[in-house]
Parts: sequence; structure tokens; C-alpha cells
Amino acid sequence: DTVIVLLTRDLRVNDHPALAEACALARSVVPLFVLDPGIRARGRQGFLHEALHDLRSSLRRLGGDLVVRSGDPVEETIRLAALVRADGVFTSADVSAYARRRERRLAEACAARRLLLRLFPGVTVVPPGALRPAGGDHYRVFTPYWRAWTRIGHRPVLPAPDAIRLPPEAEPGELPAPPRPPHGSLRGGETAARWRLEHWLALGLAGYAAGHDDLAGQKTSMLSPYLRFGCVSPSEVAARSLGRCGGEEFVRQLCWRDFYYQVALAFPDLPRRDYRERKVDWNGDGDAAQAWREGMTGVPVVDAGMRQLAAEGWMHNRARMITASYLTRRLRVHWRIGGEHFADLLLDADIPDNWGNWQWVAGTGNDTRPNRVLNPVRQAKRFDPEGEYVRRYVPELAGLPAASVHEPWKLPGRVPGYAAPLVALDNV
Ligand code: FAD
Repeated sequence: DTVIVLLTRDLRVNDHPALAEACALARSVVPLFVLDPGIRARGRQGFLHEALHDLRSSLRRLGGDLVVRSGDPVEETIRLAALVRADGVFTSADVSAYARRRERRLAEACAARRLLLRLFPGVTVVPPGALRPAGGDHYRVFTPYWRAWTRIGHRPVLPAPDAIRLPPEAEPGELPAPPRPPHGSLRGGETAARWRLEHWLALGLAGYAAGHDDLAGQKTSMLSPYLRFGCVSPSEVAARSLGRCGGEEFVRQLCWRDFYYQVALAFPDLPRRDYRERKVDWNGDGDAAQAWREGMTGVPVVDAGMRQLAAEGWMHNRARMITASYLTRRLRVHWRIGGEHFADLLLDADIPDNWGNWQWVAGTGNDTRPNRVLNPVRQAKRFDPEGEYVRRYVPELAGLPAASVHEPWKLPGRVPGYAAPLVALDNV
């Protein structure tokens, strides 16, 4: 009669399989979010709190509420289950080692109290583990995964529930006030996500194939933080994009997200250990790593990317590849050091995408050409030909013309206030 829906990183009412099923089966439903001190939200705290406020408003409009607790999610769920006399707990399945440990503990605690626990899809388009290659437990190479992914049927997109009835015993609890977001950062929550999705489908998607590598143009969806917190469902994004102009190229990127989720499920050590072992004499976390973090390497496109990250909590994918390649291949700083910094600052940082991509760039991951090294100057000239991206984020170089903005060291004198390159870039 009463079901608790334990929400984690699925902060929405639309296309939410666990919530939809609970509303279809139970007379009363308790949407629960537990603020877990074991998770360092780092730069994402403000975005998370905005998303929770937005979700609470949506649930109230449906007649329900968001019940908020803080502490250990398993203990809080079980305590609430006793209070509201719940029959079951529904939650979305996730892949990180932390999330899976939580799921296992929840399963044990529910079994001990004869509570039904059901896990639902919703974090990815295709559930991790649903596709397996012949003779293996997961796909290690993207292209065959993409082929299988496009062939398998995707689950239908579900509407938001019509109404939610909260049991009277469920005291909603206080939500922390969201801190004022820093200038330029994205606003959290399903309302903002849906607005961005509509805007993207109407105005952005058609230009994606041609423009997504353009560093200065903001021609990508910027949906990643919303996907990270589940403010929008990846299945809905995929279903609504396919069949439109630009849709296939875009959905292919969403498939990369699913790809890394199934890698992370099969290899839980992804944030810590080489996925594919590679002998490298790594440098430690010294002055070079610090200059990289501060956007003071003297390589304009690298510095622009790192400063965009610090200012906005987001970085263009091409800039992520250039900055990560520079750190791991030129400075030979271990990928874990770079990944930690990204995890601190990115609004969209999550375990499979962040660490899967870092290992890809470092040559220890799923790249079929692990020796690939990006030349930052060549990349900059190609993807920021006018130097607009660099000038936007590196004000010291704002007065330089396109011809020298990517290689200021070639000018006769030093640019005042701008660092000399940490390492020479020839023979990259
Ligand atoms: P779009 O180009 O609009 O793509 C749509 C969606 O597809 C994205 O929102 C994302 O969910 C998915 N996607 C796109 N590219 C990739 C990719 N290479 N791998 C996996 N999924 C992808 N993405 C994260 O979501 N979280 C991270 O922590 C993260 N860390 C990264 C670290 C490095 C070193 C690199 C090179 C890439 C990383 N990415 C990460 C992937 C990618 O850079 C971002 O997903 C993308 O820039 C987000 O912008 P967007 O939403 O405008 O992307």
C-alpha cells in the first residue's frame, strides 16, 4: 500500500520508471532524498540543492512532497519505512562502487524486515550489463557497442505521474537553502533541464554535427550536468533526438555515456587503476600540475580550458581532451591527479564518464589507439581558428590577433602578465 521511492541521482518526475511504477501500484508514495555526508558534492552542492528544491515544487504540484533526511541513506530509508509502514522500497539502479555497496546494504536491510526492494532502470538509456559481446562480460571497444546499442529496443518514455499521495506520517523535513550560484554557472533542476532540452531540440541539434568541436561557439547541448543528476532522462533525450537532423551524431555521444557506464560496472576500480595497464614513469603532483590547475601553463588553449572550468564548472569536450592530453602526455602527470581536479570542479562529474574519459586520453583506457597524443597548438588552430575561445578566458591575450594568439612565445617580446610555456611544445 505504501512504497518509498529512494531518489539518488534521478531528480525528476518525467520518465522516472521507479516513481511511475510506485504511483501505479501503491496507494501512497514517499519520494525520499537522503543528504548523504559520505558523498562529497564539492562544486556541485549548489546545483544539487537547486535540483532538490525544484523537485519538491513539482512533487507538491502533484499533491505529494519530497521527504528529505540527512545521514546514511540505508538507515534513513529503513527508519522511514517503519514510520510510514511501507511495504516496499523502489530505487534506480546505479553503477559506481559506492552506489552498488549502498544497494547491497539496502537489499540486506530490506530482506531482514520483509520489505520488497525493487531496482529500476533510468540512469542510462540502455541498462549497463544489458548488452554483452560474445565471449565477454562487457564491451571494451565503442563501435561494436554502438552497433549493438542501436539495434536493441529502448524502453518507452514515461509521462510524469498524474498525482502522488503522501502518507500523513511522512514529515517532509527541511531542505538546505541553495547557495547563490557563481556567475555563469547553470541552474540546477528539472525545470531548467526541460527548458534547455526544448531549446536544444528546436535550435541547437541541427547544427551539432558541423559545430560540436567548435570551441568558442557553444554548439553543444550543455545537458551533461542535468544528465548527471537525472534532472532529465537520457532515454527521453535520445528518443526525442533520433530521427531529427543532427540526431544520430548527438545520440552517438549519449551512447558514449552508456558505454562508460557498462565499463564502470565491469571494472569498479576505474577511478583508481589502469583499465589497460601501461608502463609510464609518472610525475607526481608538483609545480607543473599546479600550473595546469591554475591555467598558467603558458599554452593558451590549455589555460583557456582550465580557466573555463574554474569559472563555470563546465568545459567544452574538445578542451577537456586537450587539457587532459597535455597533463598526461606532455607533463606526464598521472591521470588520477587530473581526474581528481575535474571531479572537484565539474558540475557534470560522475564516475564512469570522468574516469573513463581520463583513462581514454591517458592511453590506459578504451582507446583503440592508446598512443594518440593531441598537439594543443594544432588543435587550437583547428577548433578555435580566430582565437575567440582563448581571448574569452585568458584576458592577458585579449589583444593578440588570431595569427599569434595560440603561440604567443613566437612573438618578439613576452606578453606582459602571461606565463612562458612550462615545457617546449615541438615534437608533440
Ligand atoms: P554534448 O556534446 O551535447 O553531448 C551530449 C551528451 O552526450 C553529454 O551531455 C554527455 O552525457 C554525453 N557525452 C558526450 N561526450 C561524451 C564522452 N566523451 N563521454 C561520455 N559521454 C559523453 N562527461 C560527463 O558527463 N561527466 C564527466 O565527468 C566527464 N569528464 C570528462 C573528462 C575528460 C578528460 C573528457 C575528455 C571528457 C569528459 N566528459 C565527461 C565527456 C564530455 O566532455 C562531456 O560529456 C561533454 O563535454 C558535456 O557537454 P554537453 O552536454 O554539451 O555535450
